[in-house]
Amino acid sequence: MKTYPIALVPGPTSIPQRVRDAWNTDFGSSDLEGEFFELYADNQKLVRRLLGTKGDVVITLGEAMSILWGALKCTLKPGDRLLAVASGLFGEGFADMARAIGAEAELCAAPHDQTPDFKKVREAALRFRPKVITAVHCETPSGTLTPCIKELGEIAREVGALFVVDFVSSAGAAAVDVDENGIDIGLLGSQKVLSMTPSLSISTLSDRAWKVIEEVRYSGYEAYLPWREVPAVHAMPYTHDWQAMAGLHAALSAIMEEGLEHAYDRHERAAALCRRRGREMGLRLFPLDEAVSSPSVTAFYVPEGWTWEALDAALRARGLALGGNYGSLAGRVFRVGHMGSQADEALVARGMDVLKDVLKRR
Ligand SMILES: *Cc1c(COP(=O)(O)O)cnc(C)c1O
Repeated sequence: MKTYPIALVPGPTSIPQRVRDAWNTDFGSSDLEGEFFELYADNQKLVRRLLGTKGDVVITLGEAMSILWGALKCTLKPGDRLLAVASGLFGEGFADMARAIGAEAELCAAPHDQTPDFKKVREAALRFRPKVITAVHCETPSGTLTPCIKELGEIAREVGALFVVDFVSSAGAAAVDVDENGIDIGLLGSQKVLSMTPSLSISTLSDRAWKVIEEVRYSGYEAYLPWREVPAVHAMPYTHDWQAMAGLHAALSAIMEEGLEHAYDRHERAAALCRRRGREMGLRLFPLDEAVSSPSVTAFYVPEGWTWEALDAALRARGLALGGNYGSLAGRVFRVGHMGSQADEALVARGMDVLKDVLKRR
């Protein structure tokens, strides 16, 4: 199998040796031992620090899509209303998912190269009176970071809606401040900034969220309710993953040892370098305003004279893996993923050197 020594895809990210070593432990005991619950509780504690919450944390099996679905299934009944705040594919996806489970969804959409306008969201929320408002912190396909999470949280409070935020590709690269921003359900996967395998999902849950979840009483694989009792009763709805839980512990510990401010700064520097090098070689940044470009992923237009297929093939032949795109951005916009283990100025510089060289040879 071919591997790429210069890995700059926007997730799954390269897994550092320390995380691989922790993952690669044979615990020789089941996930129902006391030690497993201690590890689970330690991870909950680290996640609370990472995300800035005193609320509940649930760590489940499956990558992040499982909890995007779960958060909606657990809070919406058929006919309930969801307002999806969107400026990209993931934000728009929440509306589709809500409709698929029988809810009524309205989209408050901004163009993909911009971020949501909270004044428009407030108007829509006051008129539509949603039960749930969803938003995405980092729109990974667009390479943007939504700056108005706090304002959106205030709007959710004003209209009595739950505020659900997908921070799958930003948490650890930028502050998410769950409690301060009024986030009722926050959603995170293990394979982006945390640089672990795509096997775990992390949800933060406020008291307001639990109240709605109790009312809806969804039962199914993604149900949150059984997880509320896990620490107390030492029993889980299914077999958990020792290896992944140990890998996650190593990943979270590494970020805490580095310090959150240092981790954010490392991401900012890698992103700034990527944008500067891109500008110098004549690439056009996809976000209209550089100020909303994400610290974890940079999106550029595919340069004139190239198809993405040809560019991607030329880069991969040189050992560099970047990210393509989806939907309306497929073939038009490509991405450099500098999150987690890949938020490394030297690595980004190596990748941009290859990109420059390939573009020059055309
Ligand atoms: C990666 C990602 C997800 C989860 O999707 P995957 O299937 O794990 O790729 C959800 N939301 C955002 C914003 C993401 O970047």
